[in-house]
Amino acid sequence: MNNLTARFIEFIEKQGAKKYLLGSIAVAILITFACTFSLSTSYAVVIDGKTMGQISSATALNQAMAAAKEKAQQESGMEITSSYNTVETKINHSLFASKMDNQELAVLLDEKVEWLAPGATLSVNNGEYQFAVATEEEGQKVLDQLKKDATANLGDAVVKSVDFQEEVSLEAGNVKVSEIQSSSKILDEIKAGKEEVKTHVVEEGESFWMIANNNDLSVDELQKLNSDIVPEKLQIGQEISLTKLEPLVSVVVTKEVTVEETIAHSTEYKDTSKLLKGESKVVTKGSDGKKKVTYEVKEANGSTLEKEVVKEVVVAEPVTEVVNKGTGSIQISSRSASSYSGGNGTLSWPLSNNKITSPYGTRSRGFHSGIDLVAKTGTPVYASAGGKVVLSSWYYGYGNCIVVDHGNGLKTRYAHLSGFNVKVGDKVSRGQQIGRSGNTGNSTGPHLHFEVIVNGSTKNPVNYF
Ligand SMILES: [Zn+2]
Repeated sequence: MNNLTARFIEFIEKQGAKKYLLGSIAVAILITFACTFSLSTSYAVVIDGKTMGQISSATALNQAMAAAKEKAQQESGMEITSSYNTVETKINHSLFASKMDNQELAVLLDEKVEWLAPGATLSVNNGEYQFAVATEEEGQKVLDQLKKDATANLGDAVVKSVDFQEEVSLEAGNVKVSEIQSSSKILDEIKAGKEEVKTHVVEEGESFWMIANNNDLSVDELQKLNSDIVPEKLQIGQEISLTKLEPLVSVVVTKEVTVEETIAHSTEYKDTSKLLKGESKVVTKGSDGKKKVTYEVKEANGSTLEKEVVKEVVVAEPVTEVVNKGTGSIQISSRSASSYSGGNGTLSWPLSNNKITSPYGTRSRGFHSGIDLVAKTGTPVYASAGGKVVLSSWYYGYGNCIVVDHGNGLKTRYAHLSGFNVKVGDKVSRGQQIGRSGNTGNSTGPHLHFEVIVNGSTKNPVNYF
């Protein structure tokens, strides 16, 4: 019994017999109290400076700690050295402390105490990310696997070096047993990566595709990040999210790749009046050359950082093509059927003054399905023969276009027009004005493109005048 209790009883006795009843009740209360809360010295269990509960003896904690350590050791299979936390007892003079029994103490330690064992810490980017491993070998496995994965599927490339872009270190030392992870789990975590939040403000002339390409994203990926944006309706100043998952570690691979490339041949043009303007003739056939180019390519997680040519070997030199290019022209001043020798007179010329600048047939830019005639915009265009208008509208590269069906499988086409004088279904007679020449559709300047179509195939018009 402590001092206070003794003095209290002394006081009761001094009050004499009439106060006896009152004293008895007080003592009864005190005894009840003493049974519930120990009045003897107790010990506070203090973990990292914080009182967690009371126990009756300091040795109880030592025993409980030893048992907890043994349990952790068995569960982890690790050689546990010490607890990470400071666990101690402090003598407590508190009167009314409820005490934990051994089982409650064991539960407390199990919950609050972390154990340390010799292992290793894998640290990325000066400790931004830290991973505990059981052994240095286990940590090394993570690093080796990252490098191995980065150099897999490189084909014929020669790997020059494999490094980590971030500072990566592996250091032996005590680690928290609860934080130890297997190499495969750490690998997954590193590869799963972190969200890298980035936005891009749309600039003039940029397309959705360009932005995706410039940021190593596919159009699909970019669309997923910006589901509210319509790619065709990008606006200057609009913000686009580029947030994506980046691995925690970037593996930088430097490799040498040798590829065969084509050396394009050049073409030399020589003017000649012996050919009509627009006509050309290949004098020396050109051919492309071949070279073997070795690049040194530096990549981080698969995207190219640097690429430079380290070696170039020409396998075959290119041959320059020499082409004679026509400057000549034919002058025909009448649209009568007989003015051009060689024609059969079926058709008359579509203009009153007919000068061919580009004949029918193969030319440098491909096959020319008609003849081009000099015509300023607005020049009257005449039907080459009587017939029925079957087209009088815009028609793809022909621009404003008229087609007249003359019957017997013969049609004529008048293209790049600036205006129409007829509509579909109109009957026209030979020499009747049907439209005005122009520069519409796929045309590089005002002219009339005239075609003769026989049973669906174009023919050289000059044979029909
Ligand atoms: Zn043409």
